[in-house]
Amino acid sequence: MVTGFLSLFLIDWEANNVAKTILDGNLVSKAIREDLKKRVDLLKEKNVTPCLATILVGDNPSSETYVKMKGNACAKIGMESIRIHLPENTSTEELLEKINELNENPKVHGILLQHPVPAHIDERLAFESISIKKDVDGVTSMGYGQTALGFGKYPACTPAAIMEIIRYYQIPIAGKHAVVVGRSPILGKPVSALLLNDDATVTTCHSKTTNLESILSQADIVVAAVGKPNFILGDWLKEGAVVLDAGYNKGNVGDVDYDSCYEKASAITPVPGGVGPVTISMLLKHTVIAAEEM
Ligand code: NAP
Repeated sequence: MVTGFLSLFLIDWEANNVAKTILDGNLVSKAIREDLKKRVDLLKEKNVTPCLATILVGDNPSSETYVKMKGNACAKIGMESIRIHLPENTSTEELLEKINELNENPKVHGILLQHPVPAHIDERLAFESISIKKDVDGVTSMGYGQTALGFGKYPACTPAAIMEIIRYYQIPIAGKHAVVVGRSPILGKPVSALLLNDDATVTTCHSKTTNLESILSQADIVVAAVGKPNFILGDWLKEGAVVLDAGYNKGNVGDVDYDSCYEKASAITPVPGGVGPVTISMLLKHTVIAAEEM
């Protein structure tokens, strides 16, 4: 695998001689997808084509775009995808029935239910009904539990992407203080668990955290998973912190204020082109692993 040393090309020098690394998600993603393409070709020789099924309920335009991007990414590396688009008024029972069909379809290796579903649907029940073997986005409580215990095969894709970026750029984790801002089940909680599993000392912050700025000022690694544009400011960070911005808000804006955080950080993910592309690659990777293991 191409290592993070390629990042040297992306380093520039500030007046104060602090090296800045742009953590380039497209580069990480390219390396993952090149490897996956070879694995898909090998599987096809055995008459297995990895297949991801995506389910979209309703007509949320952003969700439609995400689902399309996932299908297109599958096609580019020779995988199959099945796109299921259910109407807004789908009931929980109808959705569960559809998920069950996919659970039982031997051609389907991974199932992704696009979040959020319309409010009248019991999203948790729907997530829980995905077979653990096909839960390639780590949304079931069993998948989350296995991730937290350190033997999960398919952690949620955005947390997995953040860890992949850290590994690619060979950023040390053990003993570092990682501060995660956000505790959602798909992002903040699982990424906290993954960082802890890799021996970071982890603080998870949320909307009731009272001294966020002071906690962030001690962070060696910052993960932003807040859902608020430009929320984390450079002034709050320790000089040389590594900043991973999972946020994706209207206008292609992350959860960190990029310009001011760039000044303080030693390494930072841009938005777009940071965590986003790697998230899709991790979804492909988990589906390929599921096909290899089936
Ligand atoms: P979410 O479910 O809305 O969770 C947001 C979290 O931020 C919650 O835990 C909330 O705390 C916390 N929070 C809100 N205001 C805060 C404040 N003032 N101080 C500290 N914490 C605060 O969002 P999500 O689904 O985790 O997504 C987070 C971001 O990541 C969004 O920008 C989303 O678009 C993005 N995202 C990106 C990808 C990707 O592939 N790049 C994938 C998924 C999500 P409480 O728990 O107390 O409410």
